[in-house]
Amino acid sequence: MRKFLVAGNWKMNGSSAANDALVAGITSGLTQSGSVEVLVCPPFPYLAAVAEQLRGSSVALGAQNVSEHASGAFTGEVSADMLVDIGCKYVIVGHSERRALYGESSEQVAEKFRAALNAGLTPVLCVGETLSERDSGRTEEVVAGQLAAVVALSGIASLASAVIAYEPVWAIGTGKVATPEQAQDVHKFIRGRLANENEDVAAAVQILYGGSMKGENAGGLLRMPDIDGGLIGGASLKSADFLAIVAAANEI
Ligand code: PEP
Repeated sequence: MRKFLVAGNWKMNGSSAANDALVAGITSGLTQSGSVEVLVCPPFPYLAAVAEQLRGSSVALGAQNVSEHASGAFTGEVSADMLVDIGCKYVIVGHSERRALYGESSEQVAEKFRAALNAGLTPVLCVGETLSERDSGRTEEVVAGQLAAVVALSGIASLASAVIAYEPVWAIGTGKVATPEQAQDVHKFIRGRLANENEDVAAAVQILYGGSMKGENAGGLLRMPDIDGGLIGGASLKSADFLAIVAAANEI
């Protein structure tokens, strides 16, 4: 039985003071009885402080990016071992903003995925199509290609230690959420694709939906059989908004 995972991607937002308030709001608002896994992914400079604040809570810490290299002359980069060292359990790889704005190819994302796994982090692998790709009927082809790069480098079994986030690019930060049916279709496709190679991995892997998820639309999405949680951008920046999504997951 897969658990729900609700993950906040804070992107390049926050400050020490704002993060303190946000984390305090999240940790104090979580109910003891909830079985939903909760994850926050602050920007690099705040990871250590947030790790300290989360100590003793059930909320996990993740980063938003990682280098594909282990160490050395890579100015400005952060390695997977460093993330583990300061208390991260997860790292987002292949977010569409990194693919689009920083030119990360699926091959590079696959290398980051491998680096994360090698260090003992759980990669949250983001996949998803743009609006023009959807409109031209290429959603499945695009998502399959993004997954295939990871499987080619790390093997299908590696996905047993990972999380997948389906994030249609047209729904990210736009307020245009995919309908539960649109999202479910792609989640089902992803799981089916994995099942062709390994049924156990396909059945176990958490597949999150991301793209304008909020308290008001979370229930409909999370009730879909192949949607196992959410990767949340905008609505992860206010504790009440984020907790509303956690609560929606706990109600299912
Ligand atoms: C995201 O960036 O991963 C995301 C889903 O953002 P938003 O919730 O703001 O659409």
